[in-house]
Amino acid sequence: MVVGDFAIELDTVVIGAGPGGYVAAIRAAQMGQKVAIVEKEFIGGVCLNVGCIPSKALISAGHKYQESLDSQVFGITTENVTLDFSKTQEWKKTQVVDKLTKGVEMLLKKNKVEILYGEAFFNDEHTLRVMGEDSAQTYSFNNAIIATGSRPVQIPGFKFSDRVLDSTGALNLTEVPKKMAIVGGGYIGSELAGVYANLGTEITILEGLPSILNGFDKDMVKLVEKNFKNRGVNIVTKAMAKEAVKTDDGVTVKYEANGKEESLDVDYVLVTVGRRPNTDELGLEQAGVNMSDRGLIEVDNQGRTNIESIFAIGDVVPGPALAHKASYEAKIAAEAISGKKVAVDYRALPAVAFTDPEIASVGLTEAEAKDKGLDTKTTKFSLAGNGRALSLNATEGFVRLVTTKEDNVIVGAQVAGHSASDVIAELGLAIESGMNAEDIAMTIHGHPSLGESVMDAAEAALGLPIHM
Ligand code: FAD
Repeated sequence: MVVGDFAIELDTVVIGAGPGGYVAAIRAAQMGQKVAIVEKEFIGGVCLNVGCIPSKALISAGHKYQESLDSQVFGITTENVTLDFSKTQEWKKTQVVDKLTKGVEMLLKKNKVEILYGEAFFNDEHTLRVMGEDSAQTYSFNNAIIATGSRPVQIPGFKFSDRVLDSTGALNLTEVPKKMAIVGGGYIGSELAGVYANLGTEITILEGLPSILNGFDKDMVKLVEKNFKNRGVNIVTKAMAKEAVKTDDGVTVKYEANGKEESLDVDYVLVTVGRRPNTDELGLEQAGVNMSDRGLIEVDNQGRTNIESIFAIGDVVPGPALAHKASYEAKIAAEAISGKKVAVDYRALPAVAFTDPEIASVGLTEAEAKDKGLDTKTTKFSLAGNGRALSLNATEGFVRLVTTKEDNVIVGAQVAGHSASDVIAELGLAIESGMNAEDIAMTIHGHPSLGESVMDAAEAALGLPIHM
């Protein structure tokens, strides 16, 4: 191994090139900093390589497959629909993931961000070492941004293997399983359950809590559960997964539910019960950076740790592990380092599950508004009253607004239905900008569009509904 014996000076160094790290690096460069980014595995991080993007690609493939099986309602009959899953996986890799990650690499280069391939380890609060395959180099820096992300949690009795999968394994299967168990019905487990259920797998979800998709409002979760049921997905709640035992051609999953020991023979079991931050092999103790006992890095409202020169963003800091949160924190940290007076404000942080139907929430739910002592009301507009939803044959779902009683200010919103992930964006903007229902009701929305349902909900909140 070649070891550089002097420290190369850097202005700002970003560790990790996921949606936190690459965005921080580009924004810091835009602000005039000389930036380097260290990445040990893949540009684009978990999100682009083994998370958000490939999962959405497979979700789309599952939808296309189901649509081609089930298009009689449009007067279309299809015969001999077949699935070549190796082609699906090839498309996902070459046309989606590779294109996007190469695009990010290009953007980094265009912004003159130096890419250092290797694993970073702090020596102290102003230097770090980067270990490449056959070289190591020490760098000194003025500021560092930690964006090393997270990895799946492994639970006792379920050691990851070729049959006991983490989310990466489930995304990269080379065959569509006949039977699959999923331990954990959070959004990742539910999205992957949807993928394989749509592709024909018999799925059982084992969820420890009383309901899947914990954190989303009950009426939204019910819609997802109904569709799971229609696809034959079996949801076992309050279930305690005990052990996975490999068999000749699959795996037996043992669990406890309703006080009884049960077991399931499946081809694969996917375990998706949470993620832990990648902070344990970074030398943070040497840099003096404080962490919580769960390994999360404590930061202020600009992302600065207890050490003046070191910032942290994304999955390594508290809050939901979401790509858009990481990218948002990235811009704040990069601008703070550049001397801008900025601070995070999570009021309009959306949460989306790409289930059937999609469900999305931003700002406060009705219950949260009550807990905060706000005097609010809720208004719900059903997609059954939306022309575009009807023309898409997708009337399942609704837009709900949580508004203050006094002046109709929008403090929260929930959307369930086709493209809820897009429809929620307008409501995020409304909350971020402190808009009220009248602002939305008087905004001209293109017709026919799903977005009109937001306008309809706003009119209803004002007591002036046209379409209900
Ligand atoms: P990461 O994306 O994890 O990137 C961290 C990077 O740091 C990695 O590339 C890693 O190799 C690198 N690294 C780690 N340690 C070192 C080191 N010592 N030296 C150098 N490099 C290092 N979020 C959403 O918002 N929407 C979704 O739809 C969504 N879907 C998901 C689906 C799945 C299956 C999974 C697993 C996650 C999903 N997420 C989604 C979550 C999202 O992927 C993460 O929240 C996001 O990637 C976090 O970004 P990050 O930049 O903090 O870290």
